[in-house]
This record gives sequence, C-alpha cells and structure tokens, in this order.
Amino acid sequence: MRLGLVIDLDVCVGCHACAIACKEWNASGTTAPLTDYQPYGAEPSGVWFNRIRSYEVGDYPNNKTINFPMSCMHCEDADCVTVCPTGASYKRAEDGIVLVDQTKCMGCNYCSWACPYGARELDRESGTMKKCTLCIDRIYDTVMPVEERQPACVLTCPAHARMFGDMDDANSAVSVVIRERGGYQLMPELGYNPTNHYLPVRKATPISTDNMGKIGFKDRLKGIANKIVKR
Ligand code: SF4
Ligand code: SF4
Repeated sequence: MRLGLVIDLDVCVGCHACAIACKEWNASGTTAPLTDYQPYGAEPSGVWFNRIRSYEVGDYPNNKTINFPMSCMHCEDADCVTVCPTGASYKRAEDGIVLVDQTKCMGCNYCSWACPYGARELDRESGTMKKCTLCIDRIYDTVMPVEERQPACVLTCPAHARMFGDMDDANSAVSVVIRERGGYQLMPELGYNPTNHYLPVRKATPISTDNMGKIGFKDRLKGIANKIVKR
C-alpha cells in the first residue's frame, strides 16, 4: 500500500482552507502539534505542514493564476530519511507514509536541506522537525465514521481539489484519476519518486481582445436603465 494525495490544479481556488484545516487538526490532534509563535501578538508566525503557493502563468489576456498546494510528498526514495543521522526520519513499510519520530529528532536540519519540496519545518519551540503526517491519527482512527478517516485537508477542501488513497491499487479513485487526467509527480527528474501527484490545469480557450473596451448596445441599454432606477 502506498498512501498519498492527488491535487487537482485545475480546481484549486487558493482559498487556503486546506492549510487552515491541517493547522487546526495538527495543533489539536494526537501527533506532532504544530507550534504557533505569538499567535495573538504583533508578528504571529508558526509551523505549517501545508502551504499554498500562487503563480501567474501566461501573458495577458491569456494569463491565469495557478494555486499550488504543497506538503510532504511521501517520496518512495526519500533522501530526508537516508540523511537523518539519528533514524528519526523514517518511511513506514506498510503504507509508505514518511514520519519523524519526535523522540529521536535532534533538530539538526539535515532532512530539510535534503528535501527538494520544502516540506519540512523546524519547530523552534520543541527543537524538532515537523512535516505532514497524512493525518495518520485520523486515517486509522476506527472510532471515526469511515468517510471521515481521511486527511483534514481533503475533507475540508470546498472545491474538492484534493483526493486521498492508495496509489498501489490500480483501481483506487486516485490511480484512476491519475491515469485519466495525466496526473504527474513534481520534479520527477530528481529521482525521489514522490507519492503525491498533481492533475494538470486544463487548456482554456483564448479570449479575443478585439472587442475589449467597446460597449455593446445591450450594455448601453443596461446603463440607461440603471441610471433611471437610481433616480
Ligand atoms: S532534523 Fe531530526 S529528522 Fe531531520 S535529519 Fe536531523 S535528526 Fe533527522
Ligand atoms: S482548500 Fe482546496 S481549493 Fe482551497 S487552497 Fe486548498 S486545495 Fe485549493
């Protein structure tokens, strides 16, 4: 079994709900509480597992904002694990989730230098490394209803841009959508073989600029009607 996320870049609206849900769950759940520094002070900051980066691609008027949620990719060949001098970073054989044993971590930062995805953050308060756990304390919690045994970010996303499942199962929803939509790994050339995949943005039909700035008859009529109503 190889558990991971599929994120649909065509659908993500960059609302940050996933990052907030992740923060909320992991600050109050049972694994790796995410520290906040001065949460109510002048300069609040803290540790996050999930961050959304936004990019502008293309040239006006065919430009588009791409929102790119990023967290730990749970790589198959994870250098963060091999460089760790204490054995704190490890990959679970049974489901492929990469975790940090908080009791073994000495906060040396080697793993964060090794990670090309910027997935790891040092918690200054505990002096240990933190990263996405795929909400391991939710997905295996048999007390929860089955439909809630998913990462908090997946459950929260209002756009349904995120999916969770087993990449090793060819018939799982995540495997099917990766096949059908041409899902891809981020920076495969680095050879880390990340479990998480992204679904590409669909090609938009270019908007013609010919009539931009010219007001049509209908719009003029609407303008006159609005002026009358205002009076
Ligand atoms: S910061 Fe912790 S997990 Fe990362 S390499 Fe050092 S000891 Fe290992
Ligand atoms: S909650 Fe969904 S739509 Fe919002 S930023 Fe996260 S992935 Fe994108």
